[in-house]
Amino acid sequence: MFYDYHVHTDFSEDSSMSLDEACRAAIERNVVEMAVTDHLDIDYPDRDFQFDLDYAAYSDAIDRAREKYNGRLSIVKGLEIGLQPHVLDQCKAFLEEKDFQFVIASVHAVSGMDLYGKDFHRQKTKKAAYTEYLQELLSCIKEFTSFNVLGHVDLVRRYGSYKDNSMKHADFGDLLDLIFEELISTGKGLELNTSGFRYKLQSTMPNLNILKRYREMGGEILTIGSDAHSPHHVAEYFDFASDLARKAGLRYITRFTHGKPEYIKI
Ligand SMILES: [Zn+2]
Ligand SMILES: [Zn+2]
Repeated sequence: MFYDYHVHTDFSEDSSMSLDEACRAAIERNVVEMAVTDHLDIDYPDRDFQFDLDYAAYSDAIDRAREKYNGRLSIVKGLEIGLQPHVLDQCKAFLEEKDFQFVIASVHAVSGMDLYGKDFHRQKTKKAAYTEYLQELLSCIKEFTSFNVLGHVDLVRRYGSYKDNSMKHADFGDLLDLIFEELISTGKGLELNTSGFRYKLQSTMPNLNILKRYREMGGEILTIGSDAHSPHHVAEYFDFASDLARKAGLRYITRFTHGKPEYIKI
């Protein structure tokens, strides 16, 4: 029985999976609860992709799916909100008077460049690119606090073309520790994102080494998310991810249905 806490439907510009397809895939793959977390990325730098969200239509669609799949699948109304330093006030304003049960905070663009394109990594060493990303992430979550978990903390390594894209705690520990300290002291959690495998990173995001450190520092809140954009990715590598969480010393994963964490034994 799985809890997939990161799924994109066609309310996200970069997904063509309908909510219905996502629900059916989830049921097929033993998911008992799925958080639909479509994108809102205000002022996303790539003009060909605009990640705005029609909240009213989104919210209605989720309410209808909840009725349709009642008793078979629990559906959480979630959001993946993309943070950049200059849009944090707009992000806060968007969340006012909305009834999201679960919010992932993510950084998909740094210094006005999306990580997905080549510009951000161009002419930077891996050390410089990863450091800049982590610094910006840290300053965003110090300022913006309306979220439950931090998404894919090491996303920057998904798009660089370095020979070795790994992020080891030993190399970026200062910033990672500050990020974890911020999360833990404010009651926020971390996401274990299994999409790393389909992006050929050969590990979850983050990897065991970084997850262990989060646990060591007292981190308890962890959601597992597939970041699926198509049905066959829903709950992919979830057995592996649960094992990894246990190896890191975690005994529970977390669900959010009423804004507060509830713990599920793994
Ligand atoms: Zn993301
Ligand atoms: Zn996502």
